[in-house]
Amino acid sequence: MKIAVLPGDGIGVEIVKQALRVLEVLRSDGLKLELEQAPLGGAAYDQYGAPYPEFTQKICRAADAVLLGAVGGPQYDTLDFQLRPERGLLGIRKDLGLFANLRPAVLFPELANASTLKPEVVAGLDIMIVRELTGDIYFGQPRGTRTNDQGVREAFNTMIYSEPEIRRIAHVGFGLAMKRGRKLCSVDKANVLECTGFWKEIVIDVAKEYPQVALSHMYVDNAAMQLVRNPKQFDVIVTGNLFGDILSDEASMLTGSIGMLASASLDANNKGLYEPAHGSAPDIAGKNLANPLATILSVAMMLRYTFNNEAAGSRIEAAVKKVLGAGCRTADIFEPGMQKLSCSEMGDAVVKAM
Ligand code: NAD
Repeated sequence: MKIAVLPGDGIGVEIVKQALRVLEVLRSDGLKLELEQAPLGGAAYDQYGAPYPEFTQKICRAADAVLLGAVGGPQYDTLDFQLRPERGLLGIRKDLGLFANLRPAVLFPELANASTLKPEVVAGLDIMIVRELTGDIYFGQPRGTRTNDQGVREAFNTMIYSEPEIRRIAHVGFGLAMKRGRKLCSVDKANVLECTGFWKEIVIDVAKEYPQVALSHMYVDNAAMQLVRNPKQFDVIVTGNLFGDILSDEASMLTGSIGMLASASLDANNKGLYEPAHGSAPDIAGKNLANPLATILSVAMMLRYTFNNEAAGSRIEAAVKKVLGAGCRTADIFEPGMQKLSCSEMGDAVVKAM
């Protein structure tokens, strides 16, 4: 298993360090791992003058999976747009052809009070949102602004999906549903938009290959409402880039704790980029305060989705559950009566639980 490790900037360095300790436990138990570190974002700009330099590209292309911390920092905010750390993120996603974004919204019952929703609505929540990442209105042509025949200025974008693009993301959705609760909800706006009506038609066709999965369809406005009304009705949701962008952020906030949320972006061969959903948190960087659990849970996703190693993925998740059950909390998820730990102490606790 060849893993490119990109700590990035800010707390990225601290949280990736703890995730690597988890991988070391697996290695000492016999897992064959090859790790290679490279800079991304601001760190890469400092060293090579570019946020996704050739050195990093080579290592990422040769790897089976990439583990990323986070990028960005105020010292880079005045740089030219093309040199900003965040351009490194777009660069790597495009370079590796990562078209499927997996964003789990999982709320460990121990953290039910962290959500702004009632604990009984969200306790035990476990949704997977699959967002198509490289198509839709974000990339469709033509796009732009113009002055029309009446001399009025207007702006336009094109919502477009090809059949192969829909098929490949539908397969990801069904594949995940097969590994989970065997329920897939495809979100569209088929009553208004031809493009998403086509989406629905193709998803229904792909469903014939997955008779064990219960497929349902939901309009995006209803899905947004159902996610806060009764989120536990969902298992896997699959949707396009625009709807997925909005719904995945909505779903992540159901859990109320950004330091707990992992994510994966996959290519056609399940090569993946794994990273926490949060950023580089410059306000707490270098203080050993960050919550490393989102990054540690990203490693669990890597083992499951790229390396097909369900046992190792579950082992990490069980260890996280165990430390939460024992009352271990970093500052971001702290409640009175619990034990407040630093970033490295949380790493110690997970390693010990494993
Ligand atoms: P952020 O996610 O970095 O921080 C938002 C808030 O959440 C902060 O108060 C931070 O302290 C807290 N937080 C985030 N992660 C935490 C963790 N693991 N443990 C404890 N607290 C945590 O978002 P921001 O402040 O809007 O952005 C900061 C920088 O990160 C910017 O440069 C931004 O561009 C970048 N960013 C990068 C990514 C990425 O690398 N994927 C994503 C979002 C933002």
